[in-house]
Amino acid sequence: MVVIGGGAAGFAAVEMLRRKGFDGSVTMLSADADAPYDRPNCSKDYLAGDAQPEWMPMRDASWYADHDIDLRLGTDAAALDPVAKSVTLGNGESLDYDALLIATGAEPIRPPIAGFDRPDAYVLRSLRDADAIIAAAGQAKCVAVVGASFIGLETAAALRTRGLEVHVAAPEAIPLARVMGDDIGRWVRGLHGQAGVVFHLGHGVTGWSDGRLALDDGTAIDADFLVLGMGVRPRVALAEAAGLAVDRGIMVDAQLRASAPGIYAAGDVARFPDPHNGQPIRIEHWVHAGRQGQHVARAILGDAAPFTDPPYFWSVHPGAEIRYIGHAEAFDPPHVGGSLAHHDAEVAFASGGRLLALATVGRDRRSLKIGVELTV
Ligand SMILES: Cc1cc2nc3c(=O)[nH]c(=O)nc-3n(C[C@H](O)[C@H](O)[C@H](O)COP(=O)(O)OP(=O)(O)OC[C@H]3O[C@@H](n4cnc5c(N)ncnc54)[C@H](O)[C@@H]3O)c2cc1C
Repeated sequence: MVVIGGGAAGFAAVEMLRRKGFDGSVTMLSADADAPYDRPNCSKDYLAGDAQPEWMPMRDASWYADHDIDLRLGTDAAALDPVAKSVTLGNGESLDYDALLIATGAEPIRPPIAGFDRPDAYVLRSLRDADAIIAAAGQAKCVAVVGASFIGLETAAALRTRGLEVHVAAPEAIPLARVMGDDIGRWVRGLHGQAGVVFHLGHGVTGWSDGRLALDDGTAIDADFLVLGMGVRPRVALAEAAGLAVDRGIMVDAQLRASAPGIYAAGDVARFPDPHNGQPIRIEHWVHAGRQGQHVARAILGDAAPFTDPPYFWSVHPGAEIRYIGHAEAFDPPHVGGSLAHHDAEVAFASGGRLLALATVGRDRRSLKIGVELTV
């Protein structure tokens, strides 16, 4: 078994293979410098300085040797031959496989905007990225964050905790509204506002130079450095070059099998059929990626069940956590039950009378119950 990727999906797959007693060889290739770690924490307690570094690894370094997993860090899979069933590494070495999991995740987008390729314009995907931002924050008084979605907002909150003046610029009028609707968006904006984040919403950004972020209305934000939270794109280059079916993600079937024998894809990189309607979807959530990795392990060991778990994610904001179960790309005006102000609420996303997803605050039991109901 060869796994390309040392993130949520790759780690969960190798862990499940060994848990289920698989005794064949397992090689895990990761371009990351660090062994699998808690990536979501990179924008939360770890970035805020409230987490110990030892919280971050998924397992101790010895775990991989103890479970006979050949973990190769800082190692790029450079090419894949689905006919010969081999992977070529960046150093030219070649590895044969019987089964291959591609779990290469996604990479942050740096749009071609003047100055966004400068070293003082940071992105946040890896632990090393978080360390670089922490180092920059140590020398700084003020940061500008571009993007008011999950990574941008969590980064803003973490850097406020470190005492920086934080400005968030984004084109949307209400943060998170596209994913979670206006009510949650306004409430989340209020939470960050109370924590001292200054918003510049409804503005595109046009450039970054000499400590100045230019907005499209001619105004500018002065800052010591910049963090870009402008979304991610799936890392499909390897699969594409190998001739696998790729369409804004590696196309897989309900068993997470890609278009060549013995190859699976899971996590942020995979586009799989939504069990509710068969439409291909791609999900960027930690728990979901882990569950898909586990599913691939079971599939390799002979379980032919389709993947049907509803997507789940959580998101942390000052003084509150949101849990979201299900998947709703388009929805009717959401229905709010309870009180967001009192941190006891649920927001239902439905289309044509059918519940697609539920966001909850302070109602974990309800989130779990709906998760069961949304499982096909
Ligand atoms: C800062 C941050 C905060 C987040 N917070 C949340 C949250 O609160 N809740 C939530 O649900 N989700 C969150 N996410 C999203 C979540 O982390 C991802 O959905 C999840 O990590 C996806 O897992 P994955 O295994 O598909 O990819 P990743 O975890 O990105 O792992 C991909 C791996 O593939 C490796 N790789 C890529 N290309 C190659 C190659 N050619 N050769 C070898 N290795 C390669 C990478 O080095 C990496 O190890 C967050 C993400 C980030 C960055």
